[in-house]
Amino acid sequence: MEAAPTMAATLDLARQNPNAPMIDAVVDFVAPKPQLVGQDRADLLNILEDIGVPEKQRRMRARQLWNWLYVRGVHDYDAMTNIAKDVRTALADAYSITRPEIVAEQISQDGTAKWLMRFPARDATEQPVDVETVYIPESDRGTLCVSSQVGCTLTCTFCHTGTQKLVRNLTADEVLAQVLVARDRLGDWPDQETPPGMTAPRDGGRAVSNVVMMGMGEPLYNFDHVKKALLIASDGEGVSMSKRRITLSTSGVVPEITRCGDEIGVGLAISLHAVRDELRNELVPLNKKYPIAELLEACRTYPGASNARRITFEYVMLKGVNDSLADAKELVRLLKGIPAKINLIPFNPWPGTAYECSDWDQIERFADVVNRAGYASPVRTPRGRDILAACGQLKSESERIPAWKKRAMSAALAGEAPDPYDAAHLDAERLAAQQATAENG
Ligand code: SAH
Ligand code: SF4
Repeated sequence: MEAAPTMAATLDLARQNPNAPMIDAVVDFVAPKPQLVGQDRADLLNILEDIGVPEKQRRMRARQLWNWLYVRGVHDYDAMTNIAKDVRTALADAYSITRPEIVAEQISQDGTAKWLMRFPARDATEQPVDVETVYIPESDRGTLCVSSQVGCTLTCTFCHTGTQKLVRNLTADEVLAQVLVARDRLGDWPDQETPPGMTAPRDGGRAVSNVVMMGMGEPLYNFDHVKKALLIASDGEGVSMSKRRITLSTSGVVPEITRCGDEIGVGLAISLHAVRDELRNELVPLNKKYPIAELLEACRTYPGASNARRITFEYVMLKGVNDSLADAKELVRLLKGIPAKINLIPFNPWPGTAYECSDWDQIERFADVVNRAGYASPVRTPRGRDILAACGQLKSESERIPAWKKRAMSAALAGEAPDPYDAAHLDAERLAAQQATAENG
């Protein structure tokens, strides 16, 4: 197997410009091979062509690969016994099928599992990123909460993820990998069983029966990658999850909502959380761009919504903020005419938040108003709070590399001096690091 290209560069910017600052870091970067997992049928045909598989064999080979990757869940070329050895070798030379590293696994008292997965840097100016994925077993279903971005560009005030700046969008293979890794850990492939220590529904069905795009990030700001991953996950001859069991949650990116219905065809959940624009502007700042009336209009015309396929409206219960009975009545009034389900989410606290969860009595009174209007069992039981795995508690340590630093690194890799603005930042960073070392030492 040919080694992946290695790029090594000492970021010694002074070589080009004696006045330029030095970055003391050394980057030894090995570019990861692209992933085969996450490729759709058309991609697989192109890849097979690229590695020289004759045209008349390509469809058959693509079908075989599809089956190994997405029905059997293998992550080792050696297991693909019906694919000719030379084809496997050529694929392995160019494409990886390894899973991301599981950096941490936590299991809650209630059986909820949370994994911190690490995805590699894609080029020398990036760092690896960590992403959280949560599995929630119930008696009749197992729901996987999948992340779409590392961090979030939006800053909803009650959400922990919103305090982590966007590092980057996840690629389609990274979104899909979260589903596949969960299935690995849960023994959710043909002829496997739930391993000891893991909880999964005991109804004989699949461990991961449902997927919700409710992890880190705003999925509609990463539309193309999320679409590709969900279309592979719902392909009837592969991972084969029903689109009725996949739900995408959005804070209200109105222009992409119709596309979500038309092009992906999964269920929709809207993070509403307030019934007046003034309050929603504060809680979900995206509301300033797409106010409630526009958001609800997009829901009214959501492709595929019907009484059998209702749109879920999520409403986080914040004590003294949005939990009055007048709010409950207004919620019911606003949703008139939309095939809707309401999901009341008790606020899940996180370190540093100023909000409190509404009192249980108040949640019940609020729920009563909603129930009387014909919406059934709306309160979402918090799961996995003890491991910070509940809604809105997800956050990873991954940080964005600032643009100036990326530019400086690229310049160094090209053997050029940084521009003066970036050089000044480098100086300041080096000085701060020296001071910190002096203080700690
Ligand atoms: N970005 C998307 C999906 C991820 S958030 C969105 O905003 O819809 C998934 C759900 O958890 C959203 O409804 C979000 O509003 C809610 N949420 C965020 N922080 C929360 C918290 N601290 N407690 C309870 N729910 C929260
Ligand atoms: Fe982002 Fe959703 Fe959190 Fe808002 S609630 S900050 S959109 S992840």
